Amino acid sequence: MAIWDSIRKGVGQVAADVSRSAEGLKIQTDISAAETELERVYAQAGKRARELWRERKVVDADLDLLMRQVGDIEAEIDELRRKSFGMQGPRKPVCPECKQEVVEGVKFCGNCGAKTGG
Ligand SMILES: [Zn+2]
Repeated sequence: MAIWDSIRKGVGQVAADVSRSAEGLKIQTDISAAETELERVYAQAGKRARELWRERKVVDADLDLLMRQVGDIEAEIDELRRKSFGMQGPRKPVCPECKQEVVEGVKFCGNCGAKTGG
């Protein structure tokens, strides 16, 4: 019967499509993984280039510009970290049981009553 043939064909087509899209997804995942790995290796190459640049073993105008940019960005990160650290302030004590903040110096947690050791 023609209708069964086309249904069977349709099911086969769907199965092929699913398998193709699963394969496509895997390839996309592999590409992303390889790209991440490439970034990582490039970063290592960059760090090594920087060491050589600092020792003046590599002298190149483009590299010089890139290394200055790296230096600027690192300085900016340092500055931001300092700022962020300053904003956190001193850490408040927390209850060892419920992990809620407790008032400094109290002996029992105001939330769960556990001994705080303070
Ligand atoms: Zn507590």
